[in-house]
Amino acid sequence: MINLKDQIAVVTGSARGIGRAMAEKFAEAGAKVVITDILEDGEKTAQEIAEKYGVETKFIVSNVTDYESAKNLVKTTLEVFGKIDIFVNNAGITRDGLFLRMKEDDFDRVISVNLKGVFNCTQAVFKAMVKQRSGSIINISSVIGLIGNVGQTNYAASKAGILGITKSVAREGARRGIRVNAIAPGFIKTDMTHILKEEVQKQILSQIPMGEMGTPEDIANTALFLASDLSKYITGQVITIDGGMVM
Ligand code: NAD
Repeated sequence: MINLKDQIAVVTGSARGIGRAMAEKFAEAGAKVVITDILEDGEKTAQEIAEKYGVETKFIVSNVTDYESAKNLVKTTLEVFGKIDIFVNNAGITRDGLFLRMKEDDFDRVISVNLKGVFNCTQAVFKAMVKQRSGSIINISSVIGLIGNVGQTNYAASKAGILGITKSVAREGARRGIRVNAIAPGFIKTDMTHILKEEVQKQILSQIPMGEMGTPEDIANTALFLASDLSKYITGQVITIDGGMVM
């Protein structure tokens, strides 16, 4: 069993969905977790995880699009817990629309949260991890960043960009004890996919060889592996979790 006792994990966008599932998985393995989100619901999430797994948790309100807010997230975590072993860039949004009709604002907003947010948080935490000479950074990309999708030019660009950040920072961190990997989920049952129309969901299912959507726990299990020493010789990689959609 993976043991993360005495480890400190931070997961962005973890008030709900995949982020929450990863935070729970780390807590179950004994880590202390920082829940951070723009949603105040994160406070409740942090309390519930602390009660369920008997670990220390903290909620910090943070907006990944704001450079100072990201810096403050890392600073506050270091003040409270003294170090950061695991950092997951999970916060993400969609603003779908066909390319010709896509509003400039919808392009900018998705890039700002999904891609610039990863830059903001990673630069802040990388500094701390360089000092520690250890750390695992996990970036949540998407299969859409690998294969593109109708109506998701902005999202695909942001998620492909995350892979570029992952591989570049992995190279810069490799001799400093820092590993950086990405997870590319396929279609996972969360609020993000719940809003899709029934016919869109049916069409998605027809593209998945395993014939069903994944669960947040499917992603959390791989995040646990990447966070732990079981993956100590793995860096700069992208792990696809999609029921066989992209092979
Ligand atoms: P979700 O909408 O349920 O959760 C996303 C969380 O991010 C929310 O709690 C939200 O408040 C938070 N967030 C949004 N903007 C933020 C900001 N500026 N700063 C901080 N937090 C912010 O979505 P989810 O399905 O759990 O998605 C989590 C991640 O997984 C996202 O990066 C998403 O792109 C990725 N992903 C999801 C799927 C899927 O099928 N659900 C597939 C591939 C990738």
